[in-house]
Amino acid sequence: MKVGVPKEIVPGERRVALVPEALGRLQKAGHEVIVESGAGLGSWQHDEAYEGAGATIVAVDDLYRQAEMIVKVDKPTPVEVDRLRPGQAMVGLLQPLLDPALMATLAGKGVIAISLDAIPRTLSRAQSMDVLSSQANIAGYKAVILAAEAFGRYFPLLTTAAGTARPANCLILGIGVAGLQAIGTARRLGALVKAYDVRPETREQAQSLGAQFVTLKTAIDATGAGGYARELTSDERAAQQAELNEVIASMDVVITTAQVPGHRPPVLVTAEAVRAMMPGSVLVDMAASTLGGNCELSRVGETVVTDNDVTILAPQNLPATLPISASQFYARNIAELVLHLTKDGALHLDMEEEITAAVVITRDGRVVQPATAALLEGTAPPEAAPSGAVPSGAAPSPAAPAASRAHGGRRRRGAGP
Ligand code: NAD
Repeated sequence: MKVGVPKEIVPGERRVALVPEALGRLQKAGHEVIVESGAGLGSWQHDEAYEGAGATIVAVDDLYRQAEMIVKVDKPTPVEVDRLRPGQAMVGLLQPLLDPALMATLAGKGVIAISLDAIPRTLSRAQSMDVLSSQANIAGYKAVILAAEAFGRYFPLLTTAAGTARPANCLILGIGVAGLQAIGTARRLGALVKAYDVRPETREQAQSLGAQFVTLKTAIDATGAGGYARELTSDERAAQQAELNEVIASMDVVITTAQVPGHRPPVLVTAEAVRAMMPGSVLVDMAASTLGGNCELSRVGETVVTDNDVTILAPQNLPATLPISASQFYARNIAELVLHLTKDGALHLDMEEEITAAVVITRDGRVVQPATAALLEGTAPPEAAPSGAVPSGAAPSPAAPAASRAHGGRRRRGAGP
């Protein structure tokens, strides 16, 4: 099968779906890889490296004309959709539950849409294809680096001839994949780390990485399906909020990662809680998107500095800001999936098999994934901000969040619109 790797064209997207080192396994399985010239430049993967690994470099028109399968990071833009042809497979983070209309368009074009964010994550044999985890891991790391950069003090305890620096107090809210990596990174930088989640099993996971688990007097177990959290009731939310506010006030750095599949991210840090934080404190809202965030004051893609001098970052598409690592891991995930979906060098979709059934969204001119089909038929709740939406970052340009004058007397700093 001819696998095509186009250049990502969403602004700010620096990842590439396959890196040269990932090509060997595909070629061994009988696949040929063609790469758009310059596809890897955002992550410093040059055409020569792809050629050295056995790929053919082609122009974009030839790529879409020749490839039987297109592998991408972001879902296709209208320009890219126009290039697709019937029978062609499109693999990427397609976010079918966020954009079911796109899936309907792809089905109408006869394209086989295969979405990596639909991988059944609790299946151990699917872990090597779990792009959501590989990219969330990167985002959790980078969130701490951004926090450290915005923070005006050391993270570690330092004793020097010029005096002693006390360690930063860092709070991680949400201990999923990104939260665990954020704990590990903040600990490695020397911060004192506390962490909180509504799933009790995260206590031990946080502690094993050196964080102190925050135990609220109001015990909440919001374990939901598939290892995810469920949405809290309004009473639970109020109780959680009151207690969390006290913890947040004593923190130098807060990193929020909380998501609930099918719902808007829960607000965990209110404006009131931010007002109680010390000047110079930093909050990174990793859950922020156009659907909202974990902090009431975060503005997606922007840096907000409040009147009490708390810096709030709400970066988008963090994985793209670490493009080499993100592309390497993404490429391994996608290569595994391609190998899983092919046999004797050709596409082989066994719809009885669990992973295949989950990731194939459109086929034979129809939307076949039940959840996406239900959304299109209007039989599913429209509010859905489903699982799988987060790490890919539908909207781009995170590295240098834009800034502008704030509403309501808050200030934002930096350059931008
Ligand atoms: P996520 O991005 O959906 O959410 C991040 C975290 O936010 C979760 O830990 C969730 O419990 C927490 N959260 C939600 N509401 C909250 C609230 N009100 N207050 C505090 N925290 C809140 O999660 P994720 O990182 O994608 O993964 C979540 C879990 O999925 C994993 O920890 C794991 O259990 C499971 N998972 C399993 C596998 C596997 O078995 N192979 C792979 C990946 C993930």
